[in-house]
Amino acid sequence: MILPIVKYGDPVLRRKGALVTKVTPELRQLARDMLDTMRKAEGVGLAAQQVGRALQMAVIDIPADSKRKSRLWVDGREADVSSLMPLTLINPQIETTKKKELDNEGCLSFPGINIDLNRGFRVKVRYQDWELQPREFEAGGLLGRAVQHEFDHLNGVLFIDKMSAADREKLQDKLRKLKAES
Ligand code: ZN
Repeated sequence: MILPIVKYGDPVLRRKGALVTKVTPELRQLARDMLDTMRKAEGVGLAAQQVGRALQMAVIDIPADSKRKSRLWVDGREADVSSLMPLTLINPQIETTKKKELDNEGCLSFPGINIDLNRGFRVKVRYQDWELQPREFEAGGLLGRAVQHEFDHLNGVLFIDKMSAADREKLQDKLRKLKAES
């Protein structure tokens, strides 16, 4: 089922997600609906807050034919990104490298807005799977960026919080308009 995507200005985007402590059929259905919603909107990641639920759950799906490169390491070995897709992150925690990488980023809750943002060059993710068992991997490129973006959403942080004052100034009118529509 396609769900409405919450846009900038809705307070749910500022709420920290509650920890997932139990996997229910409803939660699995929510993840499937989030994937359908994200794909229809041509995004690569979506957090529960973006469909109005303040929960520690996000979905990511990097298409195999994506022009933007992704890298993945599992157990210290480089792995095929598609082996992990689609991915549901439950209760994720991240560690990023000090080294940063500048790249372009958008967000389905901010239609029409794309900005260049510095993110950790690589990210280590610890999360839980559908059995609530601990899992981890390391990622770079588009996948690494998506993980960091979604992790922020789960904590009520938005990509506009991380952009430069100059970029915010440039986007002021667009942001004001988005907020007024919500
Ligand atoms: Zn987003």
